[in-house]
Amino acid sequence: VRRLFLTFAIATLVPVVALGWIVSTATRGSIEERSVELYGNTTSTLVRLAGSSLFRPEDLAAGRPLAEPQQAIVDGFLEALEIEPTTVRVLVTDPRGNVVYANWRGHPARVPVTDAIRAALLGETTSDLVTAGESLNGRGWRGTPVETAIPLALAGEASVDGVLVASGLDNEFVDQVHDDVRRLRLILAGGLGALWLLLLPILASVSKRLRREVQRNEHLAHHDALTSLPNRQLLEERLVEAVARADRDDGLVGLLLLDLDRFKEVNDTLGHRAGDRLLVHVAQRLRESTRAADTVARLGGDEFAVVLADPEGEPEIRAVLERVLQALRRPLTIDGIELTVDASIGVAVYPVDATTGDGLLQHADVAMYAAKASDAPFAFYAAEHDPHSPSRLGLTADLRRALTEVDDEIVVHFQPVAGSDGRITTMEALVRWQHPARGLLAPDAFVPLAEQSGAIHLLTARVLDLAVAQARRWADASLDVGVAVNLSARDLRDDSLVDRVGSVLHHHGVDPSRLELEVTETAVLAAPDTALRLAEQLRATGVSMALDDFGTGYSSLTNLKRLCPDRIKIDRGFVAAMSDSATDLAIVRAVVDLAHRLEIGVTAEGVETQDQRDRLEALGCDQVQGYLLSRPLPAAEATAWLARWHARVEMAHRGE
Ligand SMILES: [Mg+2]
Repeated sequence: VRRLFLTFAIATLVPVVALGWIVSTATRGSIEERSVELYGNTTSTLVRLAGSSLFRPEDLAAGRPLAEPQQAIVDGFLEALEIEPTTVRVLVTDPRGNVVYANWRGHPARVPVTDAIRAALLGETTSDLVTAGESLNGRGWRGTPVETAIPLALAGEASVDGVLVASGLDNEFVDQVHDDVRRLRLILAGGLGALWLLLLPILASVSKRLRREVQRNEHLAHHDALTSLPNRQLLEERLVEAVARADRDDGLVGLLLLDLDRFKEVNDTLGHRAGDRLLVHVAQRLRESTRAADTVARLGGDEFAVVLADPEGEPEIRAVLERVLQALRRPLTIDGIELTVDASIGVAVYPVDATTGDGLLQHADVAMYAAKASDAPFAFYAAEHDPHSPSRLGLTADLRRALTEVDDEIVVHFQPVAGSDGRITTMEALVRWQHPARGLLAPDAFVPLAEQSGAIHLLTARVLDLAVAQARRWADASLDVGVAVNLSARDLRDDSLVDRVGSVLHHHGVDPSRLELEVTETAVLAAPDTALRLAEQLRATGVSMALDDFGTGYSSLTNLKRLCPDRIKIDRGFVAAMSDSATDLAIVRAVVDLAHRLEIGVTAEGVETQDQRDRLEALGCDQVQGYLLSRPLPAAEATAWLARWHARVEMAHRGE
């Protein structure tokens, strides 16, 4: 404000001073002119009276000084009028500048014909303030004499015979003129100064108002209009500051990135205005549950961020996290409806997880998606979450190459599934990646990568092709066994899936009944409508559907009813716990009963001991799969294993 005010003050001062100077100069000129004219008139009246009666036309026509007796008469006359050479010098000249008379000694014989003399010869009386040097009546005077040139028309007005020049050095008069000018200047300066001072408070208030407007605009540019929280831009600035401070003090910066769960539902069911109110509440709770030094920002939509300034370490970050989560979970009422807010929070810490503010934002984002994916309320950044971490980027590129350029890196291993009679019904195809540098990779190491990078369709297609081709070879070798292939959530959103499955079966000449497709509950839930429609279409072609990892997802019974699979595969967790836990045993029993009532087959996964197999058989479980039979085997070994197993079972059956 001060600088703006000063600029204004100086900018207005310049024209005020300029105005003062112009007015004072102009007025001074006119004051002097008028005063001199007045003074000159008075003198000239006296002198003209005298001059016209004292000089004769022939005195001037001669162009010579007056004779002594006449000169004495003129001197006496002037003295009688109290016109003394010390105060008024009088000089009479003919039209050519020859001095005829002067009332002081040592006067020149000639004077130059000046403008004033020329004007007087034309009949005009002029008065002027002249400097001592310019005076026709000689040097040696101090100050500024008033010099008046008066025409002498001795034979009447018709012709001018000579000029009388009277130079008065009336200091009192000159001082008075100067006083007048000085007074005028003072009044002008005072008036304009007062005007300018009056302008100052107006300027001050205008600059203050401007400043406020600027601040308001700045606030708008850096804050979210709905919640008044800092926006992304300001957050980024604060992050940069926090990082610089952390560098200086050897400290940390924590960044929480927060996304509300199911916010879209609130908008869809209660309307956008209710959604906005919810966001305002969330903003307030975030502010309340963080420290004053922390920055809470809204990045847009239902995404918020908190910059934790200089946390002591992970325990303090976790403490803030807990407070934030608790504050968010407190129920709140909007339009009479009680809502609870859940959020997924990603946490990244400088300098542990990133070396810049931008990097911190990216990594907190990665952590947030990891939290969402794992259904945890929060997740700290970890490089393996990150599809963009260098090792993952490299692996993604490798995977694309493995799927598009070479055909021997992606392989499937097969794990047998046995029916209650001991015969192998299905071989589940489990994908492996023979990475040229990293060796054989399990699905965990690259399937999520394929899902995130969009390569999952290629991967599923490759596995499907390998599995169905193998089914064809086993059929050709009179090994009567089907194959099972796992689908990912992405596959269940792809409308071309049904055609692709159909064409693979057709290409290898394999009957659809030999193929089982396994889907998980989570995959179905990701896009229930499409997933259920596709499952129905697949079953219509004769392919059977299995619900994999049953019991680990949500709302199992609802899915069971809607998806109506041919088979469910009880998750290995229940099977493992069944021997020690009565509850798990009861769950398995109930699942088997329920499935059978719905005419759905049941497979138990992860069967490792004979005891487990016996119990499952007692419960009526149809099929078992697990290490008790065999670990997943490469195709050639699986074929050999199948042949041996087949022979053994046949022998046993014949023996009965
Ligand atoms: Mg499976």
